[in-house]
Amino acid sequence: MAIDLHMHTNFSDGNLTPGELVDLSIKKKLSVIAITDHDEVGGLLTAQEQANKTGLKVVNGVELSIDYGLKGKSHLHLVGLFLDPENDELVSTLRMLKNARTERARQIIMKLNRLGFDVSFAELLEVAGTASIGRPHIAKLLLDKKMVNTISQVFQKYLAHGCPAHVPKKKLTIQPAIDLIHGAGGLAILAHPISLGYQTYIPLGEELLRLRDLGLDGIEAFYSSHDRYFTQWLLDFARKENMLISGGSDFHGEVKPDIKPGRGYGNLFIPVEIYENLLAHSSRYQAA
Ligand code: AMP
Ligand code: FE
Ligand code: FE
Ligand code: ZN
Repeated sequence: MAIDLHMHTNFSDGNLTPGELVDLSIKKKLSVIAITDHDEVGGLLTAQEQANKTGLKVVNGVELSIDYGLKGKSHLHLVGLFLDPENDELVSTLRMLKNARTERARQIIMKLNRLGFDVSFAELLEVAGTASIGRPHIAKLLLDKKMVNTISQVFQKYLAHGCPAHVPKKKLTIQPAIDLIHGAGGLAILAHPISLGYQTYIPLGEELLRLRDLGLDGIEAFYSSHDRYFTQWLLDFARKENMLISGGSDFHGEVKPDIKPGRGYGNLFIPVEIYENLLAHSSRYQAA
């Protein structure tokens, strides 16, 4: 049985509701999924309710962007798994991050206005609803208004790092973020290690050990854009260095239409044993 421990819903920048994601995951014969919305845990309850009536297990997750001083397009994201979505500290921190995202979206809209795009914040809210607003919502707005041809075109020309309508996002630093996840009873997993931007294994390994020393529990070895050699290196490294292994597709739905649940670009397969091992360690930070 295949699993997928990194998926987004329309509570952040995915386009399926949590219920629709549960239904699709069952249809795709996944046995376990984790919902890991950016800065949001609001979709978890309905997903759990929907999945309760079925054989699908849903792991409570979240994805956090970290200020780690990386250069250019390199970035560090953490996925928290098995956390308590009602933890006070988590809820209040996510509320702060979500509010900062809204403010940033206003600034991006103003920059787009100055670049000549006739778009408003009110129109953006129609696209995003109550979601934690991300650049994909802005890209979708421009696409819906036929101002661009593709989502990736908006990113490449306007929204990506170094582009004229880019506005940085409010991020947590690494130690508070790991502590936040642990405080909510969750495991802290390094999402898509490829995004750290290392070209060679030695400095990547050193970085992973630094992160482990800060409390990082595991790494997302299985990921849509990791090739099998990189995945195998990460699996071997994690075993050698006593780190947990996770894996997910980063499914978003139509924002990233080529990424399929559990399958990524087609070659991804995450065995259920990965979930079982994470589950066995999932109470590490949970109060007795
Ligand atoms: P934000 O959280 O607002 O900084 O937006 C980041 C999100 O934008 C990522 O999680 C992806 O969902 C999406 N994204 C980033 N780059 C691209 C791209 N080139 N094409 C499509 N979506 C992208
Ligand atoms: Fe996203
Ligand atoms: Fe990410
Ligand atoms: Zn993600």
